[in-house]
Amino acid sequence: MIHLNDISVRYRDDLVALQPTSLRFGRGEFTVLLGASGAGKSTLLRCLNLLNKPSTGQINVDGIGAIEDSAALQTHRRQTGMVFQQHQLIERHTALANVLLGRIGYHSTWRSLFPLPRAERQIALECLSRVGLLHKALDRVDQLSGGQQQRVGIARALAQQPRLMLADEPIASLDPASSRRVLSQLKQICREDGITTVVSLHQVEFAMEYADRVIGLAQGRVVFDGAPDALTNGV
Ligand code: ADP
Ligand code: ADP
Repeated sequence: MIHLNDISVRYRDDLVALQPTSLRFGRGEFTVLLGASGAGKSTLLRCLNLLNKPSTGQINVDGIGAIEDSAALQTHRRQTGMVFQQHQLIERHTALANVLLGRIGYHSTWRSLFPLPRAERQIALECLSRVGLLHKALDRVDQLSGGQQQRVGIARALAQQPRLMLADEPIASLDPASSRRVLSQLKQICREDGITTVVSLHQVEFAMEYADRVIGLAQGRVVFDGAPDALTNGV
């Protein structure tokens, strides 16, 4: 589905954040990007949704060069759901409103959500239900636990009906039980909807537990790419 062809990213002359890298991501694959802080995980994720324009190389989405073709780029962005380390929800709004705004666009004002088409509300509620938070739909986000907030973030991304889901350190600030719930829900959604999913983590044990494929990064280089059971210590 996505093919990174010899991409590299250089933020400054003296810093290559990502060395020339070629990777393919197939439909429905659940990939963990594993690496220490500064390894280049966010940089690679931002290339996958083209928030970062790589310094060299091409990105093909379904065979179309998404850097050069602006229509393909727009479509690709619309079909990419993002989950962030700091969930980036509007805390004074309800869980439901955040999922709806994710769907309709944050440039819309709160008032423009009214009158709300019934179908839109239904989709948003279904997404909250998939992450086990239907009962929290009308709670303000700042009243929810960290794990619940992150799951609202997943529901918001899911409401875009994405083909690609990117999650940048989604469990970095969660306890182990909440981390497992977040990862297992991401994996279940990937399975059930066939969404290509790439999650960055720094914990080897979670990568081994959840990934179909692990890509290990160190200092901007891919140092491992394979099934998690082939992982050894030292990534
Ligand atoms: P990770 O997500 O694995 O922590 P990053 O992709 O954020 O790694 O960073 C890779 C390298 O690029 C690091 O050395 C980081 O300091 C640098 N870097 C990341 N973003 C920027 C930026 N916008 N400007 C300059 N350097 C950056
Ligand atoms: P968090 O720990 O992330 O704040 P919650 O407060 O939502 O999570 O979880 C409270 C309880 O509900 C937990 O004991 C958990 O086992 C259960 N729970 C959470 N999500 C689900 C779900 N999707 N299906 C069933 N039970 C759930």
